[in-house]
Amino acid sequence: MEGLFGQPTLINNVETFANIAPIIRNGGEWYANIGTEKSKGTKVFALAGRVENTGLVEVPMGISLREMVYEIGGGIPDGRKFKAVQTGGPSGGCLPTECLDMPVDYESLAKAGSIMGSGGMIVMDESSCMVDVAKYFMDFCMTESCGKCIPCRVGTYQMHRILTAIGNMTATEQDLKMLEELCDLLKHTSLCGLGQSAPNPVVSTLKSFAEEYRAHIQDRKCPAGVCGQPVGETV
Ligand code: SF4
Repeated sequence: MEGLFGQPTLINNVETFANIAPIIRNGGEWYANIGTEKSKGTKVFALAGRVENTGLVEVPMGISLREMVYEIGGGIPDGRKFKAVQTGGPSGGCLPTECLDMPVDYESLAKAGSIMGSGGMIVMDESSCMVDVAKYFMDFCMTESCGKCIPCRVGTYQMHRILTAIGNMTATEQDLKMLEELCDLLKHTSLCGLGQSAPNPVVSTLKSFAEEYRAHIQDRKCPAGVCGQPVGETV
């Protein structure tokens, strides 16, 4: 393996350093036996959101999302139904119920439209609105954009504006089309990873929870009861 300048390269984060001592003590073969064929070893996740047990957990690569949510996380509180899990931090994707038996490794997450990223794992239940979730993460990316390139600087602002309008039940089909076009534009024309990955929460929620977007735009309703009503209208 080669890294920077053709030399072995270490990514200097605490998680990497924490792996070194056990690897030296037990050997590389021992470490390589943990995890999946391509994603070796363990991974630390910050398990948060709508689960009984939240906190930092270290698990073998390849563990299923179901085990993460229901065994380690202790399941969803108050008997509510699982809706999605968002992995990878603000630029990650939201994975629906159909992904619960998917192994958690780099390759499977990428294939499902998400990322390992910073190891964040936020569980959402039926009381979460996926439009609101997408808006929350876009707010983060918009704030974090350094402003150097226009697609990210203006694009994240415009995407946040449209998501806000959808949440306020004032958006149109044209806005939704524009939102989709902006996802594509940011991904392909932003200068760095922040802008390129900022659309991920929107893309993944549009893919798996399109009916929630439609309910806000066509029926002026938030199925989860999170978003506001249009100005001048009452429920
Ligand atoms: S994509 Fe990167 S360089 Fe461009 S504005 Fe966003 S953070 Fe800055």
